[in-house]
Amino acid sequence: MSDAVPTGPARRAATVAVHAGRPPHTSDQPFSTPVTFASTYVAGGELEYGRYANPTWTAFEDALGALEGGRCLSFASGMAAVTTVLDLVGLGAKVVAPRHGYTGTVMALGDLESRGRLTAELVDVTDTAAVVAACDGAALVWLESPTNPALEVADVATITAAAHEAGAYVVVDNTFATPVLQRPLEDGVDLVVHSVTKYVAGHSDVLMGAVCTRDEELHRVLKGRRDLVGAVPAPMEAFLALRGLRTLHLRVERAQANAAELARRLADHPAVAEVRYPGFGGIVSIVAEGGAIAADLLVHKTSLWVHATSLGGVESTFERRRRWRAEAPTIPEGLVRLSVGIEDVEDLWEDLRGALDDLVT
Ligand SMILES: *Cc1c(COP(=O)(O)O)cnc(C)c1O
Repeated sequence: MSDAVPTGPARRAATVAVHAGRPPHTSDQPFSTPVTFASTYVAGGELEYGRYANPTWTAFEDALGALEGGRCLSFASGMAAVTTVLDLVGLGAKVVAPRHGYTGTVMALGDLESRGRLTAELVDVTDTAAVVAACDGAALVWLESPTNPALEVADVATITAAAHEAGAYVVVDNTFATPVLQRPLEDGVDLVVHSVTKYVAGHSDVLMGAVCTRDEELHRVLKGRRDLVGAVPAPMEAFLALRGLRTLHLRVERAQANAAELARRLADHPAVAEVRYPGFGGIVSIVAEGGAIAADLLVHKTSLWVHATSLGGVESTFERRRRWRAEAPTIPEGLVRLSVGIEDVEDLWEDLRGALDDLVT
């Protein structure tokens, strides 16, 4: 970590989000670490080359690391972070992962398995006993909580204890909850992965990923792999992601308040067969009463809600997940995942309710 990490008493998340990863408060220093565009540096120092180090990455890494309570490494995308972590396991190793995990993660596991690189056992993360049983002989236990888009919640602490007992590393993809709502490293989890693209950057204009850990050896190995693979972010992306992170707590609070209110109202609408909301966060999944056709109609009938993939931006978006061939067949055809933004909840509801009303009249 750089010298810019604030020392002294432990601060709360909102304060850390605003202050971590700043240059020192000395005369003439800017408040924010500037973007350093450099492919190489004058030799003899610690930076050397642009694939190994960049001061703008370091500022971002200090801030997200401080929020998660570990050391952070930034990556070119969430998937660059995911695949670099999956590459930690030895040849033929067993990896346990959620059957309703992020499709890219499940696809990467399938790809590695088809090439004999590892074996993947997909589990229902809500069935703690089954996940604990699957830990036997595993090298890595991958968790998402809540899962995407089923919004299932795992018992992270219990599963982590069982996985460690079995000698496996535990990873939590914390993209949905963010460190504002959940800090898995505090539960003993070894690695936290982020699609920074989503809530952390938060404005639908950056693609970036990150891995956080308290294990110095894991950090060293992952940095070595990242530098060799070259899965590094561009400096401007790191700057924008850090700009976004400064308001993470406010955006998550507002998105969560809007999501909780919409989940309550959606449950009473006759066009909605089911509402899935884990009780926290800004993502709500609904299952349309009329299945795939109704769901496809819904996402084209709104004026404020935008039909788009991805999530975690300030603006509200939604999509029918099974439109993707890679989505798990156990996800209902009519499931629409809503990424609730930070707009006025009444405007969001009026737009959504109007489109839902059209489905039943
Ligand atoms: C989007 C996403 C990813 C992949 O991140 P990219 O930045 O798109 O590469 C990984 N995990 C989860 C939970 C995601 O939502």
